[in-house]
Amino acid sequence: MLCLSLLLSSSSSSSGFLLSKTLTLTKRTIISSLTTMSISLNSHAFAGNPLRSKTPKTHDPFSPSSAFESLKTRLLHNPENHPPSESPLFKVLPFRKGRPLASSFVTGDDVVPSWHLGWISLADCERILEKYGLQQREESFVYLGSRAEEDVVYWAIDVSEEGGLVPELGSRQFCFVELRTLMVATDWADSLAMGELAVAGHARALLEWHNLSRFCGHCGEKTVPMEAGRRKQCSNELCKIRVYPRIDPVVIMLVIDRENDRALLSRQSRFVPRMWSCLAGFIEPGESLEEAVRRETYEETGIEVGEVVYHSSQPWPVGPSSIPCQLMVGFFAYANSVEIDVDKEELEDAQWHSREDVRKALTFAEYKKAQRTAATKVDQICKGVERGQSLSADFNVESGELAPMFIPGPFAIAHHLISTWANQDPSTSAATLLKQPSSSISNL
Ligand SMILES: [Zn+2]
Repeated sequence: MLCLSLLLSSSSSSSGFLLSKTLTLTKRTIISSLTTMSISLNSHAFAGNPLRSKTPKTHDPFSPSSAFESLKTRLLHNPENHPPSESPLFKVLPFRKGRPLASSFVTGDDVVPSWHLGWISLADCERILEKYGLQQREESFVYLGSRAEEDVVYWAIDVSEEGGLVPELGSRQFCFVELRTLMVATDWADSLAMGELAVAGHARALLEWHNLSRFCGHCGEKTVPMEAGRRKQCSNELCKIRVYPRIDPVVIMLVIDRENDRALLSRQSRFVPRMWSCLAGFIEPGESLEEAVRRETYEETGIEVGEVVYHSSQPWPVGPSSIPCQLMVGFFAYANSVEIDVDKEELEDAQWHSREDVRKALTFAEYKKAQRTAATKVDQICKGVERGQSLSADFNVESGELAPMFIPGPFAIAHHLISTWANQDPSTSAATLLKQPSSSISNL
């Protein structure tokens, strides 16, 4: 069986767990009899947004403030009168109920379709919205970023209130697709596709935050977008409180029993059957990341954690719309005790698993096959032939016997925490661990 094992490459620092800032292509020999292949990940899913690499200075025509002034001017004129080569070009990504507009097609010799974001020109956006009697004000557009080398500024707009747009855009082979579905359908080896996913995640997080922050939490007056939608401000002259996009940090940790070479995996009742993952929990006010790791682990499993070592972090904009963007902060947490006492209100189960069992679990789920199945599903949605299949069930497409458990896919930081540990040579890791500092540090 072909097993695709995704590894974030380690840095050369004394801690083998810590990731280098630039994650490069590595091919690692896995301590396993299975045939394995490593694929580079330049960044986690939803990180590495190509539109956010550098924000232009204020006077630059691609900057949020300059682009917003140009947007205002262009919206004052009939879209038919827009010069086709007006610089910079404005491309707009419509969202409906948290779903970005997308299209899907097969390119070149590929047999698997790939999805792409449904960018439309500002003029097209205006024409379509006017057709439905919607007057677009500049405040409706949220600046996403720019690419000076392409002469393009990118915007997002929420069109949830106009249902007629769905068939209108559908006739153009566009459709609004759940971001989670696109996430699963993204070929993680394709850096351009991963970049599109990151742009969509950023846009969704911003638009959902705009929806949540319509009124001032201090005085109750309306808030208004500022800086091309990158922040908001209370409209009450006496208040004028500034509101910034919301990020909710979450610790996610693989708890490790060094002495017995085991890792703690848990199940929540909302998980698909037989899926096991890391522990995770929101950070409380006044708490350090390390304290949150220790508290959550103790509360949910009764296990006491000593050393906490940072691994990497991942933006997670696919949670509920009430939490527009979580930031998953990943750690290895080394257990000082091993007796498990599961909090049944939080977890369905938690168990220690040997390294060999975890390796097997990583091979059971054919992640590449699941990705291709999801890509085909997006293609079907865009062609209007959705069948209502369960995407999550696709992860466990097996060629052999029913797997006792499997691990989340490579789009989730949990996968990388688990696979990094599972694919380490235990003897090497033991030596490495001895060199590790007692406190949590990061070289990212
Ligand atoms: Zn206010």
